[in-house]
Amino acid sequence: MDYAAVLKQVAEAVEPERGSGRVANYIPALAEVDPDGFGMSVVTVDGACFTVGQAEQPFSLQSVTKVMSLTLALEILGDAFWARSGREPSGDPFNSLVQLEHENGIPRNPLINAGALISTDVLISRHGRDGAVAAILEFATEMADGEPVRIDGRVAASERETGFRNAALANFIRSFGNLQNPPEDVLHVYFHQCALEMSCKGLSRAMLYLANRGVDPVSGRQVVPERRARRINAVMMTCGHYDASGDFAFHVGLPGKSGVGGGIIAIAPQQLSVAVWSPGLSPQGNSLVGSIALEKFTTLTGLSIF
Ligand code: GLN
Repeated sequence: MDYAAVLKQVAEAVEPERGSGRVANYIPALAEVDPDGFGMSVVTVDGACFTVGQAEQPFSLQSVTKVMSLTLALEILGDAFWARSGREPSGDPFNSLVQLEHENGIPRNPLINAGALISTDVLISRHGRDGAVAAILEFATEMADGEPVRIDGRVAASERETGFRNAALANFIRSFGNLQNPPEDVLHVYFHQCALEMSCKGLSRAMLYLANRGVDPVSGRQVVPERRARRINAVMMTCGHYDASGDFAFHVGLPGKSGVGGGIIAIAPQQLSVAVWSPGLSPQGNSLVGSIALEKFTTLTGLSIF
């Protein structure tokens, strides 16, 4: 498959849509980003990389990092993790509180904010507060294989200042006994994790283990067991786009995870990982142009898993 040509066609197809959607503004530092930005990167399981647009422009990963913290939390707790978080789609916005009361502080899944706070808590219990931030940064850096990774302290601070809803979620979960650490510490780590910055090129490289049965094909490292890679992909497929997860499956047909920074990572099992960035969001908080680009990508390549 000539992925360079495919990406060129995708970029041409989304050109008229560039700048549509609304850049996240509830985190002030995110509102400053150029709404016309667009980049895309594919890394195949034999390690070849293809890019188009601003694929080397770093952006705020936000909820895309929930896949990384889930990977690390599952390594610590194994299947016991699933006693503390469900794995069903929520059908609710990413920061919703409503299900938590009925479901006794057990979040629906680890890819909404409530569930990601559980992953964060697991990391703090193992590494301590600052050690948990370091563990996430170290994992992302190692997996990115030389592509730049950093935590944007301004974004983390901005999230803290406006993170009342996340604070409510953490305190509420703690009231049910499903957090082991102080909510302030869990929020500190969560905000720093969300503020991780990478480019499409780095992100697609870093997530390649999910496309290759848990093994990073370039380093040969078994990052997660094969069975777990399949399960992380299953959760991404059903829960990775919040209350638009069904729509993403319908249009794109790949496991994926979005973030309000405008990034999306999608996995074509046994084939490739693909990252796209474009900051304008749909009302559900998923990149609008990014989703259109991925739909075009799977249409042209026939890579939908269905
Ligand atoms: N940091 C953001 C928040 O918790 C992440 C949300 C997202 O990317 N959907 O509100």
